[in-house]
Parts: sequence; C-alpha cells; structure tokens
Amino acid sequence: MDLFRFFAVSASVACWRRGFSAAVLSLIALPITWAQAPSNAQLADPAIEQRANDLLHQMTLEEKIGQLVQYNDATPEQLTANTKHNPDDLVAFNPTATPHASAKTLAAGGGMGSMLNVTGAGRTNVYQHLAVEKSRLHIPLLFGADIIHGYRTIYPVPLALGASFDPTLVRELSHMSAAEARTAGVRWFYSPMVDISRDARWGRSTEGAGEDPYLGSAMARAYIEGYQGKSLLAPDSIVASVKHFAAYGAAEAGREYNTTDMSEITLRQIYLQPYQAAVQAGAATMMSAFNALNGVPATANPFLLNKVLRQEWGFNGFVVSDYTAVMELNNHGIALTPAVATEKALKAGVEVDMMSHYYDAELPELVRSGRVSLSVVDEAVRRVLRVKFACGLFEHPYAEGREVAVADPAMRPLVRRAAEESFVLLTNREQATGNSTLPLAAKAQRIALIGPLADNAHEMVGAWSGAPVLSDVVTLRQALEARQKKLGGSLNYVRGTEISSDSQAGFAAALEAARNSDVVVMALGEAAEMSGEAGSRAHLELPGNQEQLLEAVVATGKPVVLVLFSGRPLVLNWAAAHVSAMLEAWFPGLEAGNALADVLYDDVAPSGRLPMSFPRAEGQEPLYYNQLPTGRPAIGIDLSKPSVGDSRFHSRYIDEQNDALFPFGYGLSYTNFAYSGVKLSRTLFSLTEAVASKSTPLVEVTATVTNTGKRTATEVVQCYVRNLGASIEQPVRSLKGFERITLAPGESRAVHFQLGFGELSFINLEGQPAIEATHYTVWVGGNSRASEESSFDVVVPAGATAGAGQQLHPGA
Ligand code: BGC
Repeated sequence: MDLFRFFAVSASVACWRRGFSAAVLSLIALPITWAQAPSNAQLADPAIEQRANDLLHQMTLEEKIGQLVQYNDATPEQLTANTKHNPDDLVAFNPTATPHASAKTLAAGGGMGSMLNVTGAGRTNVYQHLAVEKSRLHIPLLFGADIIHGYRTIYPVPLALGASFDPTLVRELSHMSAAEARTAGVRWFYSPMVDISRDARWGRSTEGAGEDPYLGSAMARAYIEGYQGKSLLAPDSIVASVKHFAAYGAAEAGREYNTTDMSEITLRQIYLQPYQAAVQAGAATMMSAFNALNGVPATANPFLLNKVLRQEWGFNGFVVSDYTAVMELNNHGIALTPAVATEKALKAGVEVDMMSHYYDAELPELVRSGRVSLSVVDEAVRRVLRVKFACGLFEHPYAEGREVAVADPAMRPLVRRAAEESFVLLTNREQATGNSTLPLAAKAQRIALIGPLADNAHEMVGAWSGAPVLSDVVTLRQALEARQKKLGGSLNYVRGTEISSDSQAGFAAALEAARNSDVVVMALGEAAEMSGEAGSRAHLELPGNQEQLLEAVVATGKPVVLVLFSGRPLVLNWAAAHVSAMLEAWFPGLEAGNALADVLYDDVAPSGRLPMSFPRAEGQEPLYYNQLPTGRPAIGIDLSKPSVGDSRFHSRYIDEQNDALFPFGYGLSYTNFAYSGVKLSRTLFSLTEAVASKSTPLVEVTATVTNTGKRTATEVVQCYVRNLGASIEQPVRSLKGFERITLAPGESRAVHFQLGFGELSFINLEGQPAIEATHYTVWVGGNSRASEESSFDVVVPAGATAGAGQQLHPGA
C-alpha cells in the first residue's frame, strides 16, 4: 500500500537564474514523507472499529451482502406493466433486471443496507422498523436522498451558489438542509456534486460550482462542513456523498453520460481538486460516476477508487455506485456478464451497489467459487458499518422531532440572501436620463412584466429540488406586484409565450403591455428540466421563440430589463447587444421573487460573479478561462474581424472570437470598484524554501480596492496567478484566492491573499505537486480579465545549477 508519498523537485526540470551558483538541482530536492492519515477521524475511532468487527463476526454471507446493496421503493408507474408485485411495496423498476423481492421483505430480512430517495418520517420509519425490529441482527437502514439545494426550504441551485463566491453562506445553507432532512428520516445526502464543468452544454453544470478548481474546492469544503457538522453524531448532521467520482463533468461534447478522456495531469490539477478538498474535509462517502475515464469506467476503476482515493488520500469512508452504474459496466463493454461486472466493481472499490440488483444476485456465488475473497466483502461491509455507527444510526434509527412540512419561515431570510448574492448583473446601459437602467426607480411607474418565467413557481426551484411545496415559492410577479402597490405604480403581467413554443399567439398582448409601460421586465430562460441530469443541450440560445419575443419587445423602444433563469451559461449575443440591462438569476429557489425585487429596486446591489464562462457560440465549448497556452496565441489580433492574411495562422476561429462573451468571475454592480496596483511581500525566494514551506505562506499579495461610486456595495476581489517557465505548460491564469468585501462610497480597503505551496505548485509528470524555479505573474481584480499585475520569481539557490537541457525562464 502506498502509505508514503514523496515529494521531490525533479532535477530535469529545474531552471537556472543569474547570480546563483552551481550544484545540480536534484541535490536540493527535499523528499517529504508522511503517512496518509485516515481522511475522517470519526470513522477511524477504535471503538467504532470494535463494534463493526463484532457485528461482522455475527453476520452470514447473505447479511453481509445485504449491507452492500441499495434499493428504492419505486412507485407503480416505474414498474413494468406485467409485474406481479404489490405496487406499494416494490424495489425499483430496472429495465434489465428482474425485481426479485419487495423493499419490505428486503428490509425485514437484512437483504439491503440502505434505501434511495425514500423520504418522509412516516415512509422511512416503516422500513426502519422492519430492519431494526424484524431483521436478525437489527441493523438499521441508511436512508440516502438527492437533497442538492434544500429539502423543503429550497435555495438557489449549486451553480448559483458558485456565483456567490461565498463558502460561508454555502455552509449555512447546507447545515439548514441537513437539519430539515433529518426530520424526514434522511441520514445521507447524495451531495455535493463537485464535478468541474467547463462545458455549458452539460446540463449537470447546474449541480456544481462551475469551471474553476479553486472555487470548486472552497465550495466542496463548505458543503461537507455544513452537512456533516463537527460530528456525524449531531442530531442535525447528515452523511455527505461526494459525487460523481471522477471527471464526469468532462463528458465529451457535453453529452450526458458520455466518455471522458484526459491526461493524468489535467485530471489531478483540475478535476480531482474539489473531490480531494471534500475528502480532506472529512466526507464520509463518495459516489462513483457513470462515465469512463481514459477507457476505464469510473465504477470499476482501481486507479481512481483504490490508488487515488484510498491510498493517496486516505479515504476511509465507503463508495456507492451511481444509479445502476454497476449494471452499466456491461454496456461499457468491459463485462460480458453480471458476475464480471460485480467482481470488477467491488474489487475496484465500489462498496455499495445502487439499484443494479447485481451484488446481491452475483456475490454469493462469486465468494463461494473463490473469485472474490471473503475478506474483500468483509472490508466493504466494515466500511459501511463504520459509517452507520459513526452517525449514531444504531442509537437513533428513526426520524425524530417534528417533520418539516413546509419551508421554515425562520430560514427564508437566509435563502433570500443566498439568491441575492447569486444574481449576476451582466449588462446595464445608461438611459437618456443619464441614469443606468438598473436599479429601477423607486417611484410610481408603469411596469410591464413579460415572459414564461415571470410567474412560474414550478421552474423557480430548479432541477433536483428536494421536496418543495410550490405554494412556498414567491414568484417575480408576486414580488413586483407587492412593490408596485407600495410605490403606487402598476404592474401589467403578460406571459407572452411558453418556454419552448413556436406559437406567437401571446406576442400581441405582450407588445401592447410593453408599449403602455415605462419600463419592461422580461423573465426568460430555460425550464428547470433543461439542465440537471440528462439535460445536455447542443443549442444554448433562449429556447423556443423567446428570443423573437424579446426582439419584438425591444423594438418598441422601451427600456427592457431581461431577467434570465437558467441552469447553465447561455448564448446571449443579441440580448447582450440590445437589451437595456441583463441579470442572470439562475434558479433562485423559494425566495426568487423577493430576492429579485430587492436587487432590481436597489435594496441590495448585485454581487454575484460568473462561475462559468458565457460563450459567444456553442462551437467555443468547452470554454474556460484557465486554458493552457498555445504556440500561436491570438494576442494583438482583432478577432472580431474575419481572419485574413497573417491574422489567420493563429489559434482562433475564422468566424468567431476566442474569448467568452462574459468571462469567469465577471459581474457588474450598482457602483464601480477601482484597483490600485498589486503589491507583493517579496519578489524573489528560493526553491528550497518553497519546497519546504508546505503550509506556510510564501508571498503575501495586497491590493487596495476603492468603491468609487455612490452606493455601498459588495465586490468579489479575485487573485489570479500564472506560472511561466515550468516543465509543463501551465494555465494562462488560475484563480488562487477570492474575498467578498463590502465598501461604502469612497471607502478603500487593502485585501490580502497568501500564496503558499498549495497555490503555487502544479502537478508534475510524476503526478506529484511540485514547485520549480519559475516566474509567476499575479493579478488582482474583479474578474478573470483583471489587469493590475505584479510578479515574482522562485530561484535556484546558491550552490545549485541548471541541468542539461534546462531553460532560462523569462524572468532570468
Ligand atoms: C444521478 C445521481 C443521483 C442518483 C440517485 C443518478 O441518476 O446521476 O446524481 O444521486 O441518480 O438518485
């Protein structure tokens, strides 16, 4: 077992710097070794180990296997027409497997260890009583559910929370949803989804924090801390399942469930970062992904599940497969029989089979025939039992307390703030009055509210929305009506069209409302179901004829404020060029309308920043700011013009610009922020110090930010770094720090970022984090195009020299 990892700076990649003398760089490489501590201390408690072993010794093979399978109690609609089972009481419909026992029978007989998406105190308790009272060893069931952005009290989708750049907020929201779901008997969330998504076509972008590994890691930690709390034993803690391990977000062509193929360097440097952050924060379980990675399905991938997750990261929780992912190994073409799929998945490190009906059907014979040793099964069961003991399931198996039946009023302010923080102001043009279009004037005026999402509670909760009560949702129409009433103005609401429609029947009424208004607010975008699982889109414009409606309304000459609802970046070229103001609202949850009214009317200035690049065309996807350099960068070329002559032979399109329409980190406010320079605590230090530093900061970056406008507002200050001269190409810039600060008009504040080994290292050819003697540029600003910069060098210390073939770096 790979208990020790070595960090060493490769001699072959060192740089030489003037003024420092000889000795081959390998001489200063410092091998650092450390034993890999178990990722979750609670799961490593010897008392828990003892209990797990004691129980394990009493179990039959069938009871052990029972702990490794998971079912739901599917509704009759999900069942095949010819099923003979009692519809109230069935395991899930599975197109290729025969449902073989009812969920109740399995619970009472110790035939399953956990249940999927069975929620509600009454419903969970039914099964739990059977498991605890009727099964021979009284082992309770673990109830897992897809609570992704709230159980009853639904808050903005995770991509929107990514836009808040506010991990503290995410921690609070996660804790709230954990506490709520506990009252419904849920003990385990299939959340957070920490897949990096660089491709807006991928519908599941909505479930994660977007394209950046640094932001994604900060959010991953926040979710785990919020769900699991300080102790899994706490009555308001939930076991988290980090998903989908790994690299699911890189599905080729953005097409759902598609294969992924990437270098190990990109995997480790970009995609694995947030999963690792979650494991380091103590995540107790992990979900293996549907996709294949470099030809090996993630659900039968020993490199991912054993080498990286367990050996390198010390993960001591358990892994659950994604839904029927073990069965899907057949479709992946790496298993000709269910037995082989089972053997491959379990041996690779998938402890729990979600819904495939494979482990329970195949493992008994696999063990008896010796193809799978009993010790492999035992270790898998131990991992499951450790989690069950650690979260106090044996002591408190049932839903306790009063079940949360509607959104908790006490939590609504938090949800409202979350939505406000997530809205991103994309454009805001000046009107003839000299004022910007937004905020709306707080005076009596006539507003036309148009669009299929203006009064649509169902869509506001987004994809994967727990168990919302739709009457809890405040729509934009409701909130604007209340505001207008207070101000003595009027609100004329017309739906205009549907989300996906080619009928123009509603256009005339919409245009008339627009003509009779002082300002038009349009609520357009996607249906919630157009993102989320199986929500890939090849066309990223507004669906249906919404853009035609928008164009017709803009043609009335009235100022148009476009409020966009979407689970991903959209292609918005026409709108960006023609509407008066655009606000990206994602799917904001229950407080959608109130939060929007707060921002539209200036109670709160917008402060969200894009967690994903907004493309100019689908053909640019995957599109992300932290791309690698090319040998022919299109720098200094006007990419808005067609390529002619010399301007052609660059890394570019002949028919589109390279960059995003709105870049990562971007978002406007109702004020302006000025940045005055980037100061560094030092501009030179030695490689020896850098390598030895580990957790000590090496450079402090300081930037002074001033609110130059007339309104108090919040800025997301962002720090980006580029590493030039390394042995492996490094991104043209990478986010390495961010902070939300609120400044009064005229107020200035110095913001500090610490850069240490974690921020400055990269993954080298050996797959290890490394720092080399290179040149770093640092930018601080309000988005990924920040222009205030400074730089520093890491140098070979006295006594070292460059090896053969080593280069001078530009700073030398
Ligand atoms: C999804 C997972 C989800 C699981 C259980 C799968 O189809 O990919 O994200 O947790 O179903 O509902």
